[in-house]
Amino acid sequence: MKKQLTAFKARLTSISKEEPLNKLSLVTIIILDIFILNILFIGLHEHTDQLTTENEYMPAAARSIFIKQDWTAANRISKLQPLILADRNNYRYRYESPFDTRQIKLMHPDAQRFFEQAKVLSQDKPLHRLFLSRQKTIKEREKTERAFNKAKASYDTQLLENIANVSKPGSNATSTTAQQYAEKIDRLTGKTRSLEQQIGNHSGIQKLWTIIAVDDTARGIVVADYKRFQFWFPLKELLWQLLFLLPIFGVFYWWSARSVKKDNPIQTLVATHLLVIATLPILLKVIELVIDIIPKHFFKNLFNFLQSLHLMALWHYFVIFLAIAIGLFLVYFIQKKVFNKQKVMQKRLMKGACTRCSKTLPAQAVACPFCGTKQLAACGTCHEQTPIGGAYCIHCGATRPAPE
Ligand SMILES: [Zn+2]
Ligand SMILES: [Zn+2]
Repeated sequence: MKKQLTAFKARLTSISKEEPLNKLSLVTIIILDIFILNILFIGLHEHTDQLTTENEYMPAAARSIFIKQDWTAANRISKLQPLILADRNNYRYRYESPFDTRQIKLMHPDAQRFFEQAKVLSQDKPLHRLFLSRQKTIKEREKTERAFNKAKASYDTQLLENIANVSKPGSNATSTTAQQYAEKIDRLTGKTRSLEQQIGNHSGIQKLWTIIAVDDTARGIVVADYKRFQFWFPLKELLWQLLFLLPIFGVFYWWSARSVKKDNPIQTLVATHLLVIATLPILLKVIELVIDIIPKHFFKNLFNFLQSLHLMALWHYFVIFLAIAIGLFLVYFIQKKVFNKQKVMQKRLMKGACTRCSKTLPAQAVACPFCGTKQLAACGTCHEQTPIGGAYCIHCGATRPAPE
């Protein structure tokens, strides 16, 4: 095992024993590694973004309506207003309308019904004008309220001064201003109320109110759906991510296996690097699953039990051992299946090349004229000389030991 790890490392840092890798080549390959790794993570991120998230399935407004039941007869027009005016109030170039058809399709059925009806309402011109007018009226009232409070504060100060001293000119003017503000506030409040009445009389709005009226049974169903979605999301996410990562891994695996088979040292070097690079995000995701998702999802009770005994360390020991076991298996698998030394030697033997340095040998050569490696060894059974790379003796056919 140790020998195989060393061989694997040698494959990452050298072309062959006789051809040490130029430093510049190694730097080039490492830059390539970093570049590919970066692209992999960006690609993974964008690929994952295509998945319907929790917030897309149950947008904040829908959560507030169907789960928290925050929308009441008193505040529902105020809560609906930003949604109806969302498209109008937006000033950003990169803006996603809450009524995007593609987005609505991803939602929970109840949220879908709400957003579809809200979309119809937002496109209703007269209703839109009512909401816009309400928005402006409320803004103005808030402004007037601030001015009123300021005028009233200064009036109160003057009143105290007037009590203490003799009357000063101008005190009445302040009181009149405050009075005017108070009247304006009343007028704006009345206007808001009348607008809300008109909005409430709209048949589409009444339909929307029936959609958002959820009793506890309906709420229970929505909560169950939402929890189920959250439960399965991490696994769905992992499968979706593997869908992106595994083909790339497969291609690099195939390429490195092929370059070893074809005995192409430079391609073997690059392909081995890329194979390692493609393995990293996969490993990372699987580790995430093991450490983060499995405990919280499937063994909740076991983990609560371990936690109550302060034995969570056991689980982390287990994760460490599991990671080592998986790592060993991976290296073993790669060494045995992909970079089988005997396969490489046989390939060279077939080409009439040196089993060690892969340079073409002169006919009948017993040792390599380039690296001095003996190409023949005594058979363990018949003691005749036979090629060291062969699987069987060329004289008696006895199985030869695998090369170290
Ligand atoms: Zn040689
Ligand atoms: Zn033999």
